Amino acid sequence: MPVPTTRRTKIVATLGPAWCTPEAMTELLDAGVNVVRINASHGTPEVRDEWVGQLNELISARSEPAAILIDLPGPRIRVGTLEASLTLKAGQEVVFAPEDEAEKGEIPTTYAALAADLDAGDTILLDDGLLAVAVSGTDGNRVRGTVRYGGLLRSNKGINLPGVDVSAAALTEVDRQEVARVIPLGVDFIGLSFVQHPEDLIELRQLVPQTVRLVAKIEKDTAVENCGAIIDAADAVMVARGDLGVELPFERVPLVQKELIREAMMRGKPVITATQMLESMVQAPRPTRAETSDVANAILDGTDAVMLSAETAIGKYPARAVRAMVRIALEVEGHRRGRSPAFDLAVGRRTDETERLRAHRIRDRQPTGTEDAIAVAVSAAVDLMMAPLIVCFTSSGFTARTVAAYRPSVPVVALTPERRTYRQLALVWGVIPVLVDHQPDYESMWRVARRRILDLQLARADDRVVVTAGIPFDTPGTTNLLKVEVV
Ligand code: ATP
Ligand code: MG
Ligand code: MG
Repeated sequence: MPVPTTRRTKIVATLGPAWCTPEAMTELLDAGVNVVRINASHGTPEVRDEWVGQLNELISARSEPAAILIDLPGPRIRVGTLEASLTLKAGQEVVFAPEDEAEKGEIPTTYAALAADLDAGDTILLDDGLLAVAVSGTDGNRVRGTVRYGGLLRSNKGINLPGVDVSAAALTEVDRQEVARVIPLGVDFIGLSFVQHPEDLIELRQLVPQTVRLVAKIEKDTAVENCGAIIDAADAVMVARGDLGVELPFERVPLVQKELIREAMMRGKPVITATQMLESMVQAPRPTRAETSDVANAILDGTDAVMLSAETAIGKYPARAVRAMVRIALEVEGHRRGRSPAFDLAVGRRTDETERLRAHRIRDRQPTGTEDAIAVAVSAAVDLMMAPLIVCFTSSGFTARTVAAYRPSVPVVALTPERRTYRQLALVWGVIPVLVDHQPDYESMWRVARRRILDLQLARADDRVVVTAGIPFDTPGTTNLLKVEVV
């Protein structure tokens, strides 16, 4: 049996034309992809369904889990389908029109009310803000403007209207249809773009079974202000820096990223840092040093996962981009406290902050929940005992997520009888998911765990490990046990 990776930081990679054969999917999963993201804004429903089917087949046959994330467009405005990519030049006059009536030479958009929401003087940004058009006026449902910053415009690129009050609903008909189609095919996460309020997720929840986890993409200023309540309503968060850096002044992105990661960790919810992490690798075989630093910094901030977008979807070097992320993650994680002053400085600050917030809760006479108290104790125990491993038994994944949120110094092996949980834990920092048969009680569970730990060479006979679980097993959200076992 192959030894599972002990890389802590997880990798999300966007599926696209650059790697959509079963061979290429296998290559990328082998390279280290933990979660495959399919962006429902691109391609056709038929192709996406086929991809989900192929992936599910591949994933079930593998000894390590992977999960599928379907990313819904939400109220996102986009360029429609262009016959051919357009080269826009500064000073050029352009016209935007709703896609069902756009004529040759006009830029089709997916948002029929664009002209109603815009006035002369507004700015239309395209492709994560790389191209800009100054609006000169509207003409029925058409918008006229002058290109300020030009470049190559491809089909389906995003449109942002900073400072404009966009009247579109949080969940569109397209989103509803996508959910209805993909849920029966078997997916693990559903992401929602442009979340503004916790209610947006509550609305989505009505369409999605409880076992499928919801990812809130934070990419609007209003979502940043509301982030605590939004994270509470979601199961996971994505720092969607592409649109965030256009909707917000881009200089705010680095600190907002740190704040969102911290808020997610405090709530025990996994967080993904996304967009342009290794962007130059769309064209080049090696990342820029700035990109390498960006990935490393997101890891030092404490992100659960780092994400690849265009790098894998349409890039020239999808597998190399994944391997580059793996190398950066392993290098950063290879440092431990006391071994590198720079690492201590970065991670020490984060740990101090977590301690301070924990102390603050106690001072506020808000007793810490049992699961958090156990998770803190587990993290401390492995350090004191120099134990190589935390073992946890989990059915919904709650125990594993809670322990992992304290970023313990050793891997968390999460044994679960639930296939869905097994796959979803692939996203969570530091967790090695292991699928086991259902066991009736703690003793039989530990027997199975011991065997698997030895098979997977995660610990040696006579090592002490720290076990945590919620007893009885079938009640989710009841982490209440900490036990030291000898392997
Ligand atoms: P979002 O705001 O949701 O991230 P995006 O347009 O930035 O939307 P990404 O998923 O980040 O899309 O992917 C980056 C780019 O890769 C896209 O703009 C698109 O050009 C390309 N791409 C992604 N998925 C596909 C696909 N399924 N088919 C074709 N091209 C794709
Ligand atoms: Mg976005
Ligand atoms: Mg993107």
